[in-house]
Amino acid sequence: MAFTSKEKFEKFNDKIWLSSPTMHSESMKYVMEAYETNWMSTVGANINEVERIAAETSGTKYAVGLSCGTAALHLCMKLAGERLYGKPQVGVGALNGKRVFCTDMTFNATLNPVVYEGGIPVFIDTEYESWGMNPIALEKAFEMYPEVKLVVYAELYGFPGNIKKIKEICEKHGVLLVEDAAEAMGATWESKQCGSYGDYGVVSYNGNKIITGSAGGCLLTDSLEDANQARKWSTQARENAPWYQNEEVGYNYRMSNVIAGVIREQYNHLYEHIAQKKAIYERYKEGLKDLPVQMNPFDETKAEPNYWLSSLLINEDAMCKQVRSEMEALYISESGKSCPTEILEAIASINAEGRPIWKPMHMQPMFRMHEFVTVKGSGRAKTNAYIAGEIKNIGADIFHRGLCLPSDNKMTAEQQDRIIEVIKACFE
Ligand SMILES: *Cc1c(COP(=O)(O)O)cnc(C)c1O
Repeated sequence: MAFTSKEKFEKFNDKIWLSSPTMHSESMKYVMEAYETNWMSTVGANINEVERIAAETSGTKYAVGLSCGTAALHLCMKLAGERLYGKPQVGVGALNGKRVFCTDMTFNATLNPVVYEGGIPVFIDTEYESWGMNPIALEKAFEMYPEVKLVVYAELYGFPGNIKKIKEICEKHGVLLVEDAAEAMGATWESKQCGSYGDYGVVSYNGNKIITGSAGGCLLTDSLEDANQARKWSTQARENAPWYQNEEVGYNYRMSNVIAGVIREQYNHLYEHIAQKKAIYERYKEGLKDLPVQMNPFDETKAEPNYWLSSLLINEDAMCKQVRSEMEALYISESGKSCPTEILEAIASINAEGRPIWKPMHMQPMFRMHEFVTVKGSGRAKTNAYIAGEIKNIGADIFHRGLCLPSDNKMTAEQQDRIIEVIKACFE
């Protein structure tokens, strides 16, 4: 980044980010090793080590190092699609025309790969207990679409929901589960790692995740055959012949050995980063305890979050009027009440970065015609869930009342206290 003035540089460095990379200079050793040995491509000791450590950390048998979490999710969808429906013709997606049950309130990268493979996402509403997929709505979805064979589940902000229950529902119906643990590396449900419950799992090393290589991701699986297939696809699907022999479509999705050097070392800091994120969460919880809000919910007896993004939900009766169109938000401030838009503005005014909750997929214009299943039943996705002033489902409600708070590991206690003060002021 080019800075035009010293002040601008200082302002940039002063900013309290939502979640920025937390780097450790020790990783330069592995990066330099890649330079010195000239393993600068997508082969080398760093990649092998990342795969070993990723599998060991997540408790799966195999990990495949890839360019990003989204690429890993794409290969998960291909593996699942081919296992379920057989190898498609060239030019036809592995999930072509098939409905897939997907987490509704998440980053679009969770389910874009379903669409890459021609699948049709059917969105499953959220639960208040974890902000993840609602198991009751999932059961309802199976009553309505018994032909569905694949479920895509994402843990939200590093706070696991009952993925064990979701897995049991999948097993009961004989379907495959893809688990997007991109935000939840190191988090557990009943002491088992997120990313290891699915038939296929994914972790990400994107710049804002709990550990990072600047980019990167791993596909997790217990199947050696599937791990090898994913690795082959990720390196242009070259066959074992003296020339470039091709029997199927390939991708350039392999992890770089330079980036792997950074990731490899970052794993040494995973639990240190989690402890820092937890301290941030606890400080918010304590600092905001007198306000009409709650922090990210989780089952304290079963879930151990990684606390990636601290978020809050404003009580219904403490919400001032807030209206969001497709592109803009308006609110009317009111004494004793507030709303995410007002709080995000207040946080931004002290040069800190918050963010709205992931806008649910069923509210996105591109998925307007897709089916959406709530605990009450199904219908077409509604894009204007609350323009008429009526909140129609749990995801829309959490989006309406919730927001992510600055959760950067490098934020000082004083900086965080200032954020807490401006949030309190919103309710005065
Ligand atoms: C970050 C993220 C991804 C994508 O990971 P990349 O490595 O950025 O491609 C997928 N799903 C969720 C839920 C994420 O937060």
